[in-house]
Amino acid sequence: MAMKDRTLLMIPGPIEFEPAVLQALGAPTPSHVAPEFIEAFGRAIESMRKVWDAPTGQPFVIAGSGTLAMDIAGANLVEPGDRALVLSTGVFGDRFEDLLLRYGAAVDVLRFPVGQTVDFDRVAHKLSGGKYKLMTATHVDTSTGVRIDAKQLGELGQQHRVLSILDGVCSVAAEEIHQEEWGLDVVLTASQKAIGVPPGLALLVVSCRALGAFEARKHPVTNYYADWEKWLPIMKSYEDREPSYFGTPAVNLVAALDVSLGQILDEGLQARFTRHRKLGQACRAAIEALQLGQIPTNSLHAANTLSAPTYPAEISGSFLLREIRNAGAVFAGGLHPEIKEKYFRIGHMGAARAGDLLAAVGALEAGLIACGARCQAGTGIAAAQQVMISQAYLAN
Ligand code: PMP
Repeated sequence: MAMKDRTLLMIPGPIEFEPAVLQALGAPTPSHVAPEFIEAFGRAIESMRKVWDAPTGQPFVIAGSGTLAMDIAGANLVEPGDRALVLSTGVFGDRFEDLLLRYGAAVDVLRFPVGQTVDFDRVAHKLSGGKYKLMTATHVDTSTGVRIDAKQLGELGQQHRVLSILDGVCSVAAEEIHQEEWGLDVVLTASQKAIGVPPGLALLVVSCRALGAFEARKHPVTNYYADWEKWLPIMKSYEDREPSYFGTPAVNLVAALDVSLGQILDEGLQARFTRHRKLGQACRAAIEALQLGQIPTNSLHAANTLSAPTYPAEISGSFLLREIRNAGAVFAGGLHPEIKEKYFRIGHMGAARAGDLLAAVGALEAGLIACGARCQAGTGIAAAQQVMISQAYLAN
């Protein structure tokens, strides 16, 4: 298939990847102890600290998906009977409840209504009343398009001496994060979203405080593969440019990670956050101009990595998504069980640029018109373009 014939992939992960990243993935596989691979792995670990803005954090790069990154955090930090507070703004928040229970935690959940963000006054109140060891939250819940205030999460965790675990699968390298300054203990993600590498890597950066809690465990970690005791020497060896082995690393993916993190740092983190803000705002403006609703109840807590529009009344969602695909763009259907049939999702992170978003909005308009929805061609594109060319967009 010619590149020009491709359908634009605008789902919230996996995303479209940069050619240089794909090239690294397709290169002949070196030994996991080859000097050039050790160099790439070591450099990727160092780059992660910069992207996460965690100068003294400990990065982990382990083969698996984002759920493994969540599992690794739970396996290493929870001992039976530990109290955990889960802040849930959607499906991925709920996943943490399920996961922490497996490791024997006593879990309380603060579940926020669909579309709303975390109310940290409620969290502070809850933390004052209970002896929690850790709390988890989802920076951007991909099932609702809701972003939470990760800075407040870290600050409250420090204040109450509770470890904070942030699921940044749909935010790291796109939404602003300063892990260390904000006091976040674990910030985890997966390769296939704004990090810009095909699926297959679980990525975490862990604070000294969280490593201390791990070292103070009374019981061994019950998950053999996830145990930091196994992986810490491996991460340290690669960073010291020494060969080592526990489980074979996903060699090509790690080489691709090194390339992508290099590109992210070359773009500059602030420039990257700004680009995503602009894409997010442009997409929301287009959706509004096309008179579709949105799941986040306030644009101030709407994610900049994906948008979550509702289907127009009387229009079949699956029919609309098919027509949009015929017009050249792939969007994702709904995911949250309470509203699954009511909305769809447009991803705009990583390699996505203004032109991709304008093309995606064009496909959305074409799809709406093909379904007989009330839609004036060009309305959404004009609104998105207005944001793109204006310097005065909201800094949320
Ligand atoms: N958390 C969030 C916020 C996600 O968006 C996802 C994936 N969509 C996950 C966790 C789970 O990641 P994975 O599908 O890679 O296991």
